[in-house]
Amino acid sequence: MKVVTIRNSVLQSCSFLLYKEEKHDAILIDCGDVQPILDELNNRGLRLVGIFITHCHYDHVYGLNNLLRSINFQCKVYVTEICMIGLKDIRVNLSKYHKDPFVLDEDVQTILIASNCLQRIAGIEINCIPTPGHDSSCICYLIEKCLFTGDSYIPHLPVFTKWKRSNKNQALKNEEKLRIMSQQNGYIVYSGHWTKVR
Ligand SMILES: [Zn+2]
Repeated sequence: MKVVTIRNSVLQSCSFLLYKEEKHDAILIDCGDVQPILDELNNRGLRLVGIFITHCHYDHVYGLNNLLRSINFQCKVYVTEICMIGLKDIRVNLSKYHKDPFVLDEDVQTILIASNCLQRIAGIEINCIPTPGHDSSCICYLIEKCLFTGDSYIPHLPVFTKWKRSNKNQALKNEEKLRIMSQQNGYIVYSGHWTKVR
């Protein structure tokens, strides 16, 4: 499986494009800057078939509407109920404070998933692991040996727990769980930010 890291312009967050080299279907984890995603899809001859979100915070979702509009909504967003609440509320997803109010477009096709589940799409098996704490909507995705942790575990930073909807105890427990899990199994950690902000 190929993982393409896209470094976003907002708060140094990351999006990740994943695909099997023998296939043309790709999935995306989180959605920031749109143009680099479209460029990667074009250059690699890929079609986006699914988007997974690590949590509902603005810096991980702000590109969703524009990306989906530009591919005529031909891709589904896999989302938990709790994350969906955030995608519809500018206070919960913090976009209000970024002066770019974000609410998920009504035309977006969504598939509600459980926070703890296994999805198979584009020949890729996605193991969803709930890791609330940084935010109540936090989920990590284990795909093969790659662990996509969003803001639940950023190896170079302590987990941030000062948001209104953070739960410090849960966050620390899940951060530790993810650290141990990745170390014991030799997982490659792809966290939600590429430098020291979140
Ligand atoms: Zn966050």
